[in-house]
Amino acid sequence: MSSDPDESKGMFTNVKYKSRTNVYKCKISNVYICEMKREELSNLAAWHDSVSLSNLEDRRLILSELEPLLRNLGPLFELSTLGHSYESRPIFKVVLGSGTRRILIWTQMHGNESTGTKAVMDFFNWFENPGNQQGLRDDLLDSCTLCVVPMLNPDGAERYSRLDSQGIDLNRDVLEKKAPESLLLQEVLKTFDPHYCFNMHDQRTIFSVGLPPTPATLSFLAPSEDEERSLTPGRIKTMEVIAAMFDSLKDVLNNGIGRYTDEFYPAATGDNFQRMGYSTILVESGHLQGDYQRKETRKYTFLALISGLAHIARGLKVNFETYFEIPNNEKLYLDRIVKNVRIGKETGDLGVYFKESLVDGQVQFKPTLERFEDLAKYGADEIVSGDHLTFSSREDAENWLAIEFI
Ligand SMILES: [Zn+2]
Repeated sequence: MSSDPDESKGMFTNVKYKSRTNVYKCKISNVYICEMKREELSNLAAWHDSVSLSNLEDRRLILSELEPLLRNLGPLFELSTLGHSYESRPIFKVVLGSGTRRILIWTQMHGNESTGTKAVMDFFNWFENPGNQQGLRDDLLDSCTLCVVPMLNPDGAERYSRLDSQGIDLNRDVLEKKAPESLLLQEVLKTFDPHYCFNMHDQRTIFSVGLPPTPATLSFLAPSEDEERSLTPGRIKTMEVIAAMFDSLKDVLNNGIGRYTDEFYPAATGDNFQRMGYSTILVESGHLQGDYQRKETRKYTFLALISGLAHIARGLKVNFETYFEIPNNEKLYLDRIVKNVRIGKETGDLGVYFKESLVDGQVQFKPTLERFEDLAKYGADEIVSGDHLTFSSREDAENWLAIEFI
C-alpha cells in the first residue's frame, strides 16, 4: 500500500497558486471543491476535435495496430516490455512524468473493450503536442509519474473477446492468478506501488442513467473492499477522484454519467486492489446515441482521464460525497425498440440489442431480440411503431430484425 505523498503536509500545502491553476474556494463542510477549469476542459475537447482521429477507428483494436504507435512515441515516454501473454504476444508498459504521485493505468484487460486504449493513445498524443494546454501538461508531468499498460489482454483483443486465450476473465482472476497477464499486472502493481490505479473498461449499450433513460456514456466505480461496502479511507480517496471527474464533466456530458453498483465482487481486480490499499478507479466507456464506433465516447474518456489526473496532480481536496450524487447505472437502454408488435397471441414491444461478433476480421452488429414485453420505461437509439407487425414466433421476429436493422 502506498501512503499519500501529501498526507503529512496538510490539505493545501502543495497547492500551486500559479495563474494557470484553477482553485475554487467554495467552502462546503470544511473541504474545498476543486474542478478542472471549464476553459481547460473546453480547450482539451477542442484539441481532441481538431486532431486527426483517422487511426484506431474500429471497435476492434489489436496489438499489430497498437505496437507501431507505441514504438513511435517520443522521448517523453519510456517504453518497455512488461512481459508476454499466454500466446506470447508482448504486453507493453509506458512510463512518463517525474512527479511523486504514482499512477498506474491499464486498459483492455477485456480484449474487446478498446475505448480506454484509444483514449490513452490520444492522451499520449496530447502529452507530445498539448496545443494551448502546455501548462496543464507540465503540471501533470511535474506532479505525477504515470505507468500505463495499454492492452493487458492482446490475445483477447485479437479474438475480439472479453476473455484471454485460455478463456479466463482477467477481471475475475486476481486471486487465482491462472493467467500470465494477471501475474504481470500484479507484478507491476507491486514494483510500481501506485497511489492510484485507473482500470479502463467498456460497457454495453444497455447501461443507462436517469429517467427517461439515456445511455451511460461514462460510468465510474469506487470498488468496495468488503461486503458491507465500507467507506474506508482508501475508498474515499477513490471517490474523491471520481467526484472531481464528475464535477468536470457533468456539464458537457449531461445525463450521460453513471455510478456502477458497488456490490462487493470477491474475485474482481478493482475490489481486491482497493482492499490491498491501492485506490482503484473503474472507468467504463459506454454508448452515446448513434456513436457505435465510440468516437465521441473516446473523447469523453480522454477528458475524464485528464480531469482525474489533474485533480491528483494539483493535490486539492474534493467533497467525496459528490460521488453519491452520480446517478446509478441502470439497464434500461436498448439499441432499437419496435412498439406494439404481436408474436403469436402475445402483444408487446420488441427490445433489440445489437450483439457484436467478429466476422472475417470485422466487428459486426447483429440485431437480436433482447426483450419482448412492455418497454415503456426503456430508452433506445430509435423507437419505431410496429402496429402492423405480426410474427408467428420469436425466431420469426428475429429474422425480421436481422433484415430491418442491418
Ligand atoms: Zn470490461
